[in-house]
Amino acid sequence: MTTHFVKAKPVIQQLKKNGFEAYFVGGSVRDFVMGREINDIDIATSAMPEEVKSVFERTFDVGIQHGTVLVLSGNEKYEVTTFRTESTYSDFRRPDSVTFVRSLLEDLNRRDFTMNALAMDESGKLFDYFEGNKDIENGIIRAVGNPETRFHEDALRMLRAIRFQSQIGFQIEECTLSAIKQNAENIKHISQERITIEFEKILMGKNASMAVKTLYDTGLVIHLNGLGMVPISLMISNLDLLVTIEEKWADFFIKSGIDPKKFLVTWKCSSEKIQKAKSIVNCFHTVMEFGWSNPILFHYGLEIALSVENLRIAREYNHYDVNDMFQKLAIKTKQELSVNGQDIMDWKNKKGGPWLSETIEKIVEHVLNGKLMNEKEEIKAWILSNK
Ligand code: ATP
Ligand code: MG
Repeated sequence: MTTHFVKAKPVIQQLKKNGFEAYFVGGSVRDFVMGREINDIDIATSAMPEEVKSVFERTFDVGIQHGTVLVLSGNEKYEVTTFRTESTYSDFRRPDSVTFVRSLLEDLNRRDFTMNALAMDESGKLFDYFEGNKDIENGIIRAVGNPETRFHEDALRMLRAIRFQSQIGFQIEECTLSAIKQNAENIKHISQERITIEFEKILMGKNASMAVKTLYDTGLVIHLNGLGMVPISLMISNLDLLVTIEEKWADFFIKSGIDPKKFLVTWKCSSEKIQKAKSIVNCFHTVMEFGWSNPILFHYGLEIALSVENLRIAREYNHYDVNDMFQKLAIKTKQELSVNGQDIMDWKNKKGGPWLSETIEKIVEHVLNGKLMNEKEEIKAWILSNK
């Protein structure tokens, strides 16, 4: 067992000492079996939420109605969730009610894919009721039980299947795949926020091109806001060469001509992400038209410039060492100017106004272009010689 699990063992042991069953479950067991890096460790238990709270000193309610209690142990946090089933899905998402049960098997039975339905006890013994291990060995993503039923219960699982394909490169099993084709339209019942999370994980996965192809093959793409008419070639090219999510979005906007802000607002993205994607697109077009210059680098900053270079490299355009160019800028922020607004007003003996910011802009431009030294006396002389 890896150190992650060893560290989490006391949580399981504490539950067992109090007469409950407890297992590692979900993604961490899957990733352990696959030899991948492990993220959060989730624990499933026969203890009811109140019972979980009573056997640990430090707990937080994070989703107690779903049976989840956050347990702090050492300096780690673990989600401890009561074994549960989910009953009657009437709206293609979230179950109408969850029922707590005392059996591990029932809990694993509600999980989405066989590779995610593994459990492991504290000795490292696997509980594999759905041949998840075999599917992992064969590189297959397979729904637990009847895929039609499972996607009908919760349409998000279809996108999750493709997201896992992107992240781990497995193939989606045939019946599971055809059930996605059958149910693709039902993705419309899922909130944009949840769709965006899975879609961005698809874009960021190591096998993004393959997964995006599956989005098209299954027809899911038609039901994703604003992507229905976008040709696949345009979605896929460059995906594997780009690094950040903003670069991947920006690349898509440049190729499609779609407005970044309009699109990402409907996809409920954060304003920070929208701003970055927009800046990359604008900077890219500016550099295409005028080439790199010190003022352009200064205006957009190094982070955006590096992203634009990645987009340019993906298009096999000439590569510029923007990092080196940026380090050589005379100033990297306005604060680094050796004069400030007050100095200028004093020298000019004038109150502030639009003229002041225009003057500062001019000074910045001259300093960046090497026409003025960033030196107080020189700038003062320049200002006084200009009316
Ligand atoms: P990641 O490594 O990305 O966190 P994960 O498999 O842990 O992947 P989570 O979304 O954290 O995915 O979910 C934890 C576990 O809960 C899954 O492994 C799966 O067993 C179960 N699960 C999550 N979402 C669903 C769902 N929509 N339907 C059924 N089971 C689900
Ligand atoms: Mg997880």
